[in-house]
Amino acid sequence: MHLFDHPDFDGHEQVVFCCDPASGLRAIIAIHDTTLGPSLGGCRMWPYASDWEALRDVLRLSRGMTYKSALAGLPLGGGKSVIIGNPRTDKSEALLRAMGRNVERLGGRYIVAEDSGTSVPDIKTMALETTHVSGIAEKTTDGGATRNGDPSPATAYGVFVGMKAAVHHRLGRSDLEGLKVAIQGVGHVGAHLARHLRDAGARLWIADIDAERVRQVADTLGATPVRVDEVFDLDVDVFAPCALGAVLNDDTVARLSARVVAGAANNQLAGPRHGQALFDRGILYAPDYVINAGGVIDVYHERTGYDHARVMSQIEAIADTLTEIFARADAERKPTAVVADRMACQRVGRAR
Ligand code: NAD
Repeated sequence: MHLFDHPDFDGHEQVVFCCDPASGLRAIIAIHDTTLGPSLGGCRMWPYASDWEALRDVLRLSRGMTYKSALAGLPLGGGKSVIIGNPRTDKSEALLRAMGRNVERLGGRYIVAEDSGTSVPDIKTMALETTHVSGIAEKTTDGGATRNGDPSPATAYGVFVGMKAAVHHRLGRSDLEGLKVAIQGVGHVGAHLARHLRDAGARLWIADIDAERVRQVADTLGATPVRVDEVFDLDVDVFAPCALGAVLNDDTVARLSARVVAGAANNQLAGPRHGQALFDRGILYAPDYVINAGGVIDVYHERTGYDHARVMSQIEAIADTLTEIFARADAERKPTAVVADRMACQRVGRAR
């Protein structure tokens, strides 16, 4: 297969293959589009089965970042990076610093932040070599609590307000009292989301491959643990994917009883036809890159002077954007994913 013909290439401005034999770094940085501003996106570390799998992931994720920032109203473009390796066994200071040097060489066209497999300390290590980092500053919330970089609470809050908008649109309800929600993945985002939902009176079912996480969240929040393969078959109102991509596929869409899908995971649809399949089944899908934009909003404001109230209000606007997408999708009888992609492309196209 030729790179430029790759089905996910989609006119990427720049794709950089990074190699540092001394530290073992093998990474790809993908810059999809910088029309609206410098590209910002997380660095994922994952033991990909092949280089092609890594390339596919980074291309899909970086395009998603272009669309995400465009619809969140941020002056940012879309980019992402992946390090090929096992984050538990292959990570070292030398490898992270080598990654930082590769980010630095791009002169600010790509700004790196944390993602699956990388953490705030990892990005701080990269920051020894480059200034083009985000997601590491200490932030103080209105309640006086501080947190160090991690955008997950902001992402979870965005998913929560977005889910409320979706529930209002499809189920005609303004409150979440007694709403039945299944969460797949109770990691950084899923656990915060679970707490918001519990506080709003929802009933929760949770699944995670990490049994200890399930136990902790179940004990703390009174959620019902379910088996990983059971989470698609539950009689619930909302399914919230907060684990992996491609989770809405030929097998799972047909199994869902939920009338709303609203969760944090990136690239939830295995392919465009699964957006259509959800639409055909009358399931309202909150497009992933719209509902999970809280993190990039949070990380962006870190670079411009962090004002907690301003960040919260921009995250709350995710609900308005989703409501507009839902209304247009209804009027045009089209899947929400199609409408969201078109709105994002229009915003970038107008700026161009
Ligand atoms: P995380 O790694 O902290 O949590 C993911 C959880 O999913 C883990 O607990 C993991 O054990 C679990 N999991 C993995 N495979 C599973 C499976 N098959 N079934 C059930 N559980 C499974 O990641 P996170 O930061 O919480 O992010 C969750 C998702 O949201 C990811 O797809 C991420 O790309 C996306 N996202 C995260 C942010 C953020 O701010 N962290 C922002 C935007 C999008």
